[in-house]
This record gives sequence, structure tokens and C-alpha cells, in this order.
Amino acid sequence: MSELTTILDTLRSRECQQIRFTLAGITITGGGYLRVARTLERGSIQLVRSLSLPAGKMAYNWRYNFIAVNRDPSENLIIHECTHARNDMAGRAIQVVDDEVTAYVAQLIYMKLKDPRLRSFAAVGAIARNTPLAVSQCVATGARQPCEMATAGMASMIAEEILSGRVPTDAMVDQLRTAIRNHPDYSGLLQQRRFRWHVGVGRRRMIPQSELDAIRGTVIHPPPVAPAGRRAEAGQGILPHTAAALRGPTDASDHFPPTRFGLIPHAEAVG
Ligand SMILES: [Zn+2]
Repeated sequence: MSELTTILDTLRSRECQQIRFTLAGITITGGGYLRVARTLERGSIQLVRSLSLPAGKMAYNWRYNFIAVNRDPSENLIIHECTHARNDMAGRAIQVVDDEVTAYVAQLIYMKLKDPRLRSFAAVGAIARNTPLAVSQCVATGARQPCEMATAGMASMIAEEILSGRVPTDAMVDQLRTAIRNHPDYSGLLQQRRFRWHVGVGRRRMIPQSELDAIRGTVIHPPPVAPAGRRAEAGQGILPHTAAALRGPTDASDHFPPTRFGLIPHAEAVG
């Protein structure tokens, strides 16, 4: 199965569609992930295979609106990175740390919905016992292992509250922020407010070749998806192009240099 198929299937899965919460003023819903899926299919968020990422890892690039994968991305990471994409698409500047808070909590909600053992009395109890120590060790040392434990533990506890129909306390959310702020992966990133989504529907940003070279990346192009009704127009000669030109920019003309597809001459003929 291609990476794109795995990502789309995960975003449209029953478990992903059950995600619904508001934290730090950011509301995450299944509908947001459906929008990310459609945007990936249209190519406005691009998928890039990056050979510099370890297999299974993913990253969302908010400067150029692309998701980098190597092989076999895990469903959990798909939810995490696509939460960043969703937050970016929402077009509101948010604190980087809150972008991470929502991504980790969404990821943990998804994991718990997929595997009910994570919600067992014993598992939930162990997390609640061990996480406070991990948070204090993370703050004291800034070392990767306690900070990973603290981040996952606090996200898990918050996810458990949400799945149980309770509202996580501000103190819990602050503990998760503290774990993320001290996590070595996020040092230096957290002072910014982040969002760069400025491509409209059907458009995409060109990823500079230098950016692709830096991550040893190649763009994975989605299979062409014609909006309903336009498939029928194909192969009818000049008329479809004229109609497309009258409607203004479309998926097809935004995805490819128009001259290669002959849209510009038809557009000029109309004008
Ligand atoms: Zn993240």
C-alpha cells in the first residue's frame, strides 16, 4: 500500500473520525482530518519521500505545506503530523507548544481508540503513577528519555480525561507544555508563533529544490482526482477547457504549468 493510501485511510478511519476535543483554544475534530485528506489528494499539501528520515518517521513542513515520510509511516504519527497540518490550514497563528499539545493529545486519543488495552485500569494507573516523576526528571535534566516519557504520559492522561467525558484541568495541560518545552527535540522552536498556510484551495506552493535536497526528498504525486462532473468533460475537445477557463483557476491548472496542458490558449480564446 502506498504511503498516501495509508495516510488517507488513517485520516478517514472510524477512530480518527471520533477525535474531538478543545485544548488551548484549539478545537480538533474528525472533520479537520477529512479536510487534510482532501487537501492531500488535491496536492495542496504535498507528500514528500525523504531518505534522510528514519523509516516510519514523519514530519510536517509548515513553510512549504508538505508532509515528509520515509517508508511505512505509523498511524500514530500520521495523526500527530496531520494535526499540525490541520492547525496550519486553520490559518490562525498559535504557539508552537500548543501545536504540539494538540498533536500529542490527538495521537494518544487515536492510540487508545485503536487499542483498548491502553485504557485498562492497570495501564492508566501506571501512567498516572510514573508520569509526575518523569516530568520532574525532564525539567531537571532535559534528557530525552524522561522528556519522552513525560510528554507521552501527560498526553495519555489528558487523552484519558477527554475519552472519559471529563475536561482536563489547566494544570495537566501546563504539565504537558512543560514536558514539551524541556524536550530536546523542541528546544529553540518554541518561542515562535506558527502558521504559514497561505495557499488557497487547489493551489500548492513550489517546494524549493534546495529544501528537497536538504532532506533527500522527492515529491510523491497523488493520482489525478477530477472533481465530480469534470471527469465527464474530459475528451470533449475545446469545450471543457473553455468551461474551465470561465470558472477560473482549477485544480488542473494549479497543479501543472498550464501551457503544458494547453489551457492558456483556450483561456485566451475565451478572453
Ligand atoms: Zn509535533
